[in-house]
Amino acid sequence: MIGKVWLVGAGPGDVGLFTLRGREVLENADVVVYDALVGQGVLGLIPEKARLIFAGKRAGNHYLRQEQTNEVLLNEALAGNNVVRLKGGDPFLFGRGGEELELLVEHGVPFEIVPGVTSAVAVPAYNGIPVTHRDFCSSVHIITGHKRQDHTYDIDFDALVRTEGTLVFLMGIAALPDICGGLLAAGMDPDMPAAVLERGTTAAQDRILATVGTLEAVCAATTVQTPAIIVVGKVCALADQFAWYEKRPLAGVKVLLTRPRELNSRLAAMLRQKGAEVLELPAIRTEPCADTAALDAALDAALDRLADGHYHWLVLTSPSGVRHFMDRLLAARDIRCLTGVKLAAIGEGTRKALAGYGLRCDFVPSVYDAETLGTELAKECAAGARLLIPRAAIGNPALIEKLRQGPGLTIDEIALYDTVYESSRVLDTKELIDSGEADFAVFTSASTVRGFAQSADGADFTKVRAVCIGRQTCAEAEKLGMQTWTAEKATLDSLTEKLEQAAAERRAALE
Ligand code: SAH
Repeated sequence: MIGKVWLVGAGPGDVGLFTLRGREVLENADVVVYDALVGQGVLGLIPEKARLIFAGKRAGNHYLRQEQTNEVLLNEALAGNNVVRLKGGDPFLFGRGGEELELLVEHGVPFEIVPGVTSAVAVPAYNGIPVTHRDFCSSVHIITGHKRQDHTYDIDFDALVRTEGTLVFLMGIAALPDICGGLLAAGMDPDMPAAVLERGTTAAQDRILATVGTLEAVCAATTVQTPAIIVVGKVCALADQFAWYEKRPLAGVKVLLTRPRELNSRLAAMLRQKGAEVLELPAIRTEPCADTAALDAALDAALDRLADGHYHWLVLTSPSGVRHFMDRLLAARDIRCLTGVKLAAIGEGTRKALAGYGLRCDFVPSVYDAETLGTELAKECAAGARLLIPRAAIGNPALIEKLRQGPGLTIDEIALYDTVYESSRVLDTKELIDSGEADFAVFTSASTVRGFAQSADGADFTKVRAVCIGRQTCAEAEKLGMQTWTAEKATLDSLTEKLEQAAAERRAALE
């Protein structure tokens, strides 16, 4: 059966500006054809199962010509795939969206269009510039600064100046002198406010405020980071008054999150709430242990004993452990086999994961790590108590060592899941580190540090500012030479607080 193409606007960068419809469509994609301008946060949402085709320009690399892109879309759809064509901003605003549809129409390939938030309006908004304001203008014009193949412009500067509206130029940085010169020659007041807005809606967002008369000289004195837009009009003067983006505590901070995907979302939301740009780069994932026959037998026997009231304690050491254990338990039996068993959790996250199954913890240690759990739980247990500990195959040995010091405890440990290192297919972790683009990386376990190190093999880890959940995680980061900060408590709130503190220190050092 023939497939379908969705032409989807990814928005200007901030993943929060990607539409709900876009996300829905992306989740169903078999193939994603994407551009260089698609935000890194949006790229992070591309599902594992989707095949990736890069269609943008990138220094030194080959890229698809427009006709080739059109053909890729056609052929992938004809092969029966759900094809998502992801474009920066809105697909129809200087995005060649129209051209990409022509071949599809010719061949009767069905398609849908998902509009996106355009940089032309959103980037000014993120800089406190409303593109229209009743007191200053009655129109806004969006213009391409790109020259035609014969190096001439299609821009009627006289007409633009006459409108007295706000002018937004995309793709105009290379042509900045021509644009300002053209406007002045057409009679625009040299004192007309003007701005260059760089890398809008990302952590690297910055702006240059000047006038049409001075903008060229001001820009020549610095390096303008692209992508950038040029805005000309009285509304630019409102930027100082309405600026909001950079006032949030974590504005301008790009953070890499490394925990497994399913656990990331709450932390990501907390950090975004405070203004950080968050990239989810899961460094590990968990999988049921490979040797399933042996695992099945051990687990079945343990569940039998559990149901028989053999165990006094069930000890869980991570939210993933809770999920894997409860999946198995509920597949074979029901929650009643936990009747009478006391529950111990290593910390907040694990406690919350259990609460999700309607289970309340009887014991959480004073410090959320394996060693403290072992030491304190050993004291809590009655003499001769029997404990069931389902956990990762590479679980921390300190837990068992400390528990063995308890009064004649029987400890049944089951290796329930493997921790597998992961790396992103779309984002280049090594490049994010070496370029200094990433400000911080957040680690919630020693295994996330190891997975991260593997995914960025060869990177200069001394450049990584690592915010760690606890001592063991921190020790692992230090082994690689990272600069480290450790949360006071092993909770997401405490981790967020530590990141804010680290970001404030860094800002102070840069000033
Ligand atoms: N379809 C896109 C525009 C494509 S043309 C949209 O609707 O936004 C590419 C131009 O868009 C760039 O040259 C730059 O001028 C502008 N642009 C895109 N993203 C931007 C961003 N995050 N910050 C500043 N300008 C951006």
